[in-house]
Amino acid sequence: MFQKILIANRGEIALRVLRACKELGIQTVVVHSTADSDAMHVRLADESVCIGPPPSRESYLNIHQIVAACEITGADAVHPGYGFLSENAKFADILAAHNITFIGPSGDHIRIMGDKIEAKRTAKRLGIPVVPGSDGAISDEKEAKRIAAAIGYPVIIKASAGGGGRGMKVARTEADLEVALQTAKSEAGAAFGDDAVYIEKYLEKPRHIELQVFGDGAGRGVHFGERDCSLQRRHQKVWEEANSPALNAEERARIGGICAKAIADLGYSGAGTIEFLYENGEFYFIEMNTRLQVEHPVTEAITGIDLVHEQIRVASGGGLSVKQEDIKFNGHAIECRVNAEDPRTFTPSPGTITHFHTPGGLGIRVDSGVYSGYRIPPYYDSLIGKLIVHGRNRVECMMRLRRALDEFVVDGIKTTLPLFRDLVGNPDIANGDYDIHWLEKYLAKEE
Ligand code: ADP
Repeated sequence: MFQKILIANRGEIALRVLRACKELGIQTVVVHSTADSDAMHVRLADESVCIGPPPSRESYLNIHQIVAACEITGADAVHPGYGFLSENAKFADILAAHNITFIGPSGDHIRIMGDKIEAKRTAKRLGIPVVPGSDGAISDEKEAKRIAAAIGYPVIIKASAGGGGRGMKVARTEADLEVALQTAKSEAGAAFGDDAVYIEKYLEKPRHIELQVFGDGAGRGVHFGERDCSLQRRHQKVWEEANSPALNAEERARIGGICAKAIADLGYSGAGTIEFLYENGEFYFIEMNTRLQVEHPVTEAITGIDLVHEQIRVASGGGLSVKQEDIKFNGHAIECRVNAEDPRTFTPSPGTITHFHTPGGLGIRVDSGVYSGYRIPPYYDSLIGKLIVHGRNRVECMMRLRRALDEFVVDGIKTTLPLFRDLVGNPDIANGDYDIHWLEKYLAKEE
């Protein structure tokens, strides 16, 4: 087991990882920018190292400074959290070259999944169902037209290097295709420095369903069931559930089995999430994230398994603590992402939190890095906390969520809490009857 882990992140996830380390009796080092000297993760860690000024590229993305912090403090492993360097293959490789363990998969596996065309090819080879579309990058308009005609309109053009929903364009007819192709290419080039795009059938009313998987790096793979993250705004997840209201146990076992086998065959190590669109009973792979996800606590709530403990165990060579047959799904869990944003326009609302009171009681978990008097710096993402609620079934979970939202107080800034208070009373949400476009349509109606 590791002696000392350096946490290369900030906010709620830094604290989340820190808690797991403390439970396992591992010393912790955190790094921080000058804007985060007062952050909770800095206060609670055994050691902290300031690695640079506020902009992420000079601090949380600064590989040299982070490796130097490992050397100075004698950390033997790094947990990257999510975002920042968590899916940076070069970072994983550099750590390996310094004999420091990256708590995550190999650089090569990160590289494969970071290139969406390569990821889709790999998924297909491993027997994972994919969205019909081009086999690789599209070279010209003629080829795009030929493929679109074969799979049928509407189609979506997507950037191979894509992320955060950028560089995607929908073409409803052949007449739209030329413009969609050109805009997607130029957006992709500008955002990612790589204008390779590919084409897929556009699904009209899918749900976003993702499978939590784990590999032990020695040829064993398991799945921890799915999460439904269909409630999104601008491709950003807002509310997540486990299990999905749309799946039954048989469908879960089938797609879970396919994913666990794929992970085993790949020789993958650590946590991963295989994301699908789900429509009319069919799953279509869209991408794989090679890290811990923001929404991992809903899976923890229904399985009772600490996924960060598992990540640390696997990375240290201790293997997974569970076999597939040990993983049981108990009740229902929902996570609401509480952002420092206007609940209607979603414009960021940084500032000082004058009062912060979190709900409690049975089945309630709040993961947050903020406190009363905390000043939210304007440099980073706006997530200030996650409310995770567990119940014996979805109805009980929703009742508890409504109560917990009423108790939650954040004064001094705007947050997305009022949006969740509206959603929890909405009949479609109560029925679990929503797809990936539901929230955008709902918000447009409310305006
Ligand atoms: P990114 O990495 O940029 O987030 P994804 O491939 O994960 O890109 O897609 C993000 C979102 O875009 C999906 O959650 C879904 O809402 C939408 N999307 C992607 N591919 C399709 C498709 N083939 N049909 C319909 N919607 C899609």
